[in-house]
Amino acid sequence: MFDILKIIKHQGRQFIPDPTTVVLPPQHPGRPAIDGKQCQQQCNSCKEICPVHAIDIAPVSLDLGKCVFCGECENICPSGKIKFTPDHNIASNDSNALIVKEGINEEIKFDADKIRKEIKECFGRSLKLRLVSAGSCNGCELELNACGNVNFDMGRYGIEFLASPRHCDGVVVTGPIVANSSESLRITMEAIPQPKILILAGACAVSGGAFAESPAVDRHLLNVLKPDLYIPGCPPHPLTFINGVLKLIR
Ligand code: SF4
Ligand code: SF4
Repeated sequence: MFDILKIIKHQGRQFIPDPTTVVLPPQHPGRPAIDGKQCQQQCNSCKEICPVHAIDIAPVSLDLGKCVFCGECENICPSGKIKFTPDHNIASNDSNALIVKEGINEEIKFDADKIRKEIKECFGRSLKLRLVSAGSCNGCELELNACGNVNFDMGRYGIEFLASPRHCDGVVVTGPIVANSSESLRITMEAIPQPKILILAGACAVSGGAFAESPAVDRHLLNVLKPDLYIPGCPPHPLTFINGVLKLIR
């Protein structure tokens, strides 16, 4: 008995009581805030250093759907305009809302009016998801796996990953969608009964990420399948995934 008490005292609480309100430490790079102050003359440093072409200048904007959170733009900016905040609530059902603009320091918008009627009617109490790795490096899978562990405990909301698409309500795609996995993704989507949800998780899935210009990538399927949720990150933090899905189904 004393041994158990000693372990509890030493290790503290092993779970997050409420993932919707938890605040991450300042070191966590979440939503960036871009100050409205003037850039130095002729400075293109952030745009030039960004490996995924996520930044535009004049005015400065940063596309979270492309960003791999390397932090180089924040480090190189001589004016200190770009600062990453610990705000992990960066998922949205509108890909345009992922573009952070200069002088506007506010939460990433989630448009409740855009949520399909079937989603509102059917998925409020639980959601079973099939993960399709469409050329992922496995980083996203590791974090999505962590969503179900004792710490984040996504299962408390009835959200979990299942093996058979026949038993699922939607697909979570990771990776840039390489040509070799495009057909598997199409078949998996087809196997899921209506109504079904499509979630793109990670910079690769949302925009192609670091592989957007690779000839191995074929994202034509997204012209037919309309994503319901975009989850930025490389990989996404479990809290970004959990809160994004909760916004979609609640
Ligand atoms: S943190 Fe994002 S926007 Fe900035 S340089 Fe890296 S990938 Fe580009
Ligand atoms: S978003 Fe990042 S972690 Fe996820 S598959 Fe792409 S490179 Fe890997």
